[in-house]
Amino acid sequence: MTTPARVVVFDTTLRDGEQAPGFSMDVPSKLSMARSLDALGVDIIEAGFPIASPADAEAVRQIAASVRRPVIAALARTTAKDIEEAARALAPAERSRIHTFLATSDLHLSAKLRMTREACLESAVAAVRLARGFTSDVEFSAEDATRSDRDFLCRVIEAVIDAGATTVNLPDTVGYATPDEIQAFFADIIARVPNADRAVFSAHCHNDLGLAVANTLAALRGGVRQVEVSINGIGERAGNASLEELVMALRVRGDRFPYDTAVESPRLFDASQLLSSLTSEPVQANKAIVGRNAFAHEAGIHQDGVLKDARTYEIMRPEDVGQSVASRLVLGRHSGRHAVQSRCEALGFTLTSAEIGEVYRAVISLGEHRKAIGDGDLRRIIDRVRTPSSSSAATPGHQVEAIGYGHGV
Ligand code: MN
Repeated sequence: MTTPARVVVFDTTLRDGEQAPGFSMDVPSKLSMARSLDALGVDIIEAGFPIASPADAEAVRQIAASVRRPVIAALARTTAKDIEEAARALAPAERSRIHTFLATSDLHLSAKLRMTREACLESAVAAVRLARGFTSDVEFSAEDATRSDRDFLCRVIEAVIDAGATTVNLPDTVGYATPDEIQAFFADIIARVPNADRAVFSAHCHNDLGLAVANTLAALRGGVRQVEVSINGIGERAGNASLEELVMALRVRGDRFPYDTAVESPRLFDASQLLSSLTSEPVQANKAIVGRNAFAHEAGIHQDGVLKDARTYEIMRPEDVGQSVASRLVLGRHSGRHAVQSRCEALGFTLTSAEIGEVYRAVISLGEHRKAIGDGDLRRIIDRVRTPSSSSAATPGHQVEAIGYGHGV
């Protein structure tokens, strides 16, 4: 097998993610999230949009001053004041990137910006030139690229690369593209733009149709080498491509996607939990990779399989993404006897076969009224089974009682 191509991870949790409803963070929260992203191993942290507010600028400044390994990026429209404000906020950074953007679709140009194509082209070029005066690392994003006129988009890309853009990001701003389409989109553009080899192409896919990760994977096949992602997939509306899903798709299915990142996957769960606690927004229980159910099994057949060989129902190990193995088997109405026994043993109880039978029946019965049976519930059940009558703790009584239940297990 050939060595996987290295993919640059551009994390936008603190910019696109943070600007989504319910996810705003104060400066100390952003700083602590940035430290977690650094530990996770992302290549670039987009720390904010400095012109948007003084707090945004301050967060970028503090992150730039104290998070030294990753490149710190700041967003700017193509106006001079945006770019200068981004540059000021980024000044303390070890390595900085100015990320300037302008819509290229006719819809955005006419309805939103009231700008001609020619003015758009000029503004994009001028912004990249100005940004290059502050840093050698400049990214240009053609907002709504996937709905832009292809010939015009190619002209803009060629011009911004000539002006000094080192990364060209082509967002699927409204999450409208399909995987086959976005692969062909990037392949076509990279083939057509004469100076395409002088820039890294980047995908920024939104999740309006739930296709953000699939589209990002397809974009890699189309020639992209930077992915814009966020923790827990947060971002405008339905969010961005989820960092944890993208990273693990590449790890688990390297046979289909010969690309890799520098992300330390065992830190994924902690980063996800930190974001959830900083924003007080819970992670969807069945969220891939980091949801609390992502490695949980309640159905008896699945529990039995996992106890015999986890690979029967798991394509990756919980510890590889930082999830706890202990929470893997959930006891409830659908649980099997094998899982009940295994949990009793984990709690330090050695039970007879008859006792296990009783505990199992009690778990199923309690599960009719409860979503899940915790360790406390299980201890109480074991207690009851072992001392059936509270007044008599004698062993013979327990024997009789156990047989009396007669579950014939
Ligand atoms: Mn976006």
